[in-house]
Amino acid sequence: MRTILIVGGGYAGFYTAWRLEKKLRRGEARVVVVDPRPYMTYQPFLPEVLAGSVEPRHAAVSLRRHLRRTRLVAGTVTAVNHAHRTVTVQPAEGQEFALGYDIIVVTAGAVTRTLAVPGVAEQAIGMKHVEEAVAIRDRLLTAFDRAATLEPGPLRRRLLTVTFAGGGFSGVEGFGELLSLATSLIRVYPELRPAELEFHLVEASDRILPEVSDEPGRWVVRSLEKRGARVHLNAQVLSARDGHVVLSTGEEFDSGLLVWTVGNDANPMVRSHTDLPIDGRGLLVVRADLRVGTDCEPVPGAWGAGDDAAVPDLAAGRAGAVTVPNAQHAVRQGKLLARNIVATLRGREAKPYVHHSLGAVATLGLGRGIFQYRRIVITGFPAWLMHRGYHVLAVPTWERKLRVLAVWLTAAVLGRDIVSLAAAQEPRRAFVTDGEPAGLPAPLLPAPLLAAPPLAPAVR
Ligand SMILES: Cc1cc2nc3c(=O)[nH]c(=O)nc-3n(C[C@H](O)[C@H](O)[C@H](O)COP(=O)(O)OP(=O)(O)OC[C@H]3O[C@@H](n4cnc5c(N)ncnc54)[C@H](O)[C@@H]3O)c2cc1C
Repeated sequence: MRTILIVGGGYAGFYTAWRLEKKLRRGEARVVVVDPRPYMTYQPFLPEVLAGSVEPRHAAVSLRRHLRRTRLVAGTVTAVNHAHRTVTVQPAEGQEFALGYDIIVVTAGAVTRTLAVPGVAEQAIGMKHVEEAVAIRDRLLTAFDRAATLEPGPLRRRLLTVTFAGGGFSGVEGFGELLSLATSLIRVYPELRPAELEFHLVEASDRILPEVSDEPGRWVVRSLEKRGARVHLNAQVLSARDGHVVLSTGEEFDSGLLVWTVGNDANPMVRSHTDLPIDGRGLLVVRADLRVGTDCEPVPGAWGAGDDAAVPDLAAGRAGAVTVPNAQHAVRQGKLLARNIVATLRGREAKPYVHHSLGAVATLGLGRGIFQYRRIVITGFPAWLMHRGYHVLAVPTWERKLRVLAVWLTAAVLGRDIVSLAAAQEPRRAFVTDGEPAGLPAPLLPAPLLAAPPLAPAVR
């Protein structure tokens, strides 16, 4: 029996495997998915995980539960040797090993772009994974608890200052949702004043949210500013050493939380450790039918889709255009890829990928959003409802839809949970310190600041 090996069980990989399970006849081929994570991340929910509107586990779609006929291998593919039809897999435990295949599907996605900015590697958190979203939320909630015990002043202001670098889709959504959480949280902290909250969104270009056109983009900036945020356009973070943010505009401030959402970089394994054709940006070269290679030089037995592949965008009507990295494409490419593999196994033609954009819809915080389809722009509450409606329908499996919906409905009546479980990142702390200090996570402020004279407790 032939083996179809899928590298990465994210959006494109999950949908490819799911569809293959439905389409393959018994004994036609076996499907193997290799991914270090046991789940597909529904990334559009991460901004709502930040805000506590979606439970973190509900944004993680279990591969074992939903891919019942697929062999799942928990490990990272470190190299693809297509000439010998093998991949090298590094499991979390034990020695690396080789896996053979007949057909490979490369859907390993992209990674967060990190720039060589001093302090960023030590201070910043990305926003691509559920664990990062949980950590960002917990950091904010912990910062509120700690700030409430300090006298007003620089340390307290620092704890209440949040900076997002990158005004793309995920950055703006995350920023808007966290701002919404912070402004509602301040009401249950009588020790703190709303004016003490500082939210900075830093974007290198002259506009945010490139998925919408100029005027709606400006509307988003105005609406964030009306909510008290600072949007720095044409600005870059030059340094974030010890949480002290220095911008290219000359402005400087201390920030207790730095979230890094400046875009995607090519997956390093795809870019540097395969013998498959790669373009100048480190993306897999694929044809419109999602086969790896070019029309003149197709690579037999290799397919690719999603954020790690340069898929020709036939709907754009421009030569050389490739599909933008988003879930709209990754899902549809995954489904078509499964269909095309089955078609070629049965001696039929593969179909080209053509998808006309459905527009863009973004959440900007609880009850706020923006939607654009061509010249139709909807803002505010209706757009936010569209965002929720679209994503609850789009998240794979009914089981997930029901769980997410249940949390939204209960939160509409009871409000969102506002407890930080940051101590979970150091589960042994309470145990090894005899419960003192009752399992609290490590300080948020950098060591040099904590060495400063003791803080005067605020009036309690
Ligand atoms: C916060 C956020 C919000 C977003 N919101 C939207 C939205 O509203 N609408 C929209 O259309 N798009 C949205 N996107 C973009 C969308 O989520 C991505 O474009 C989509 O996930 C890409 O799918 P993919 O399968 O290519 O990659 P991914 O979904 O990232 O999956 C890649 C998988 O490969 C695995 N992997 C990586 N390297 C290896 C390796 N070496 N070996 C084995 N496995 C590996 C990873 O663990 C992962 O499971 C959002 C993205 C983010 C970060």
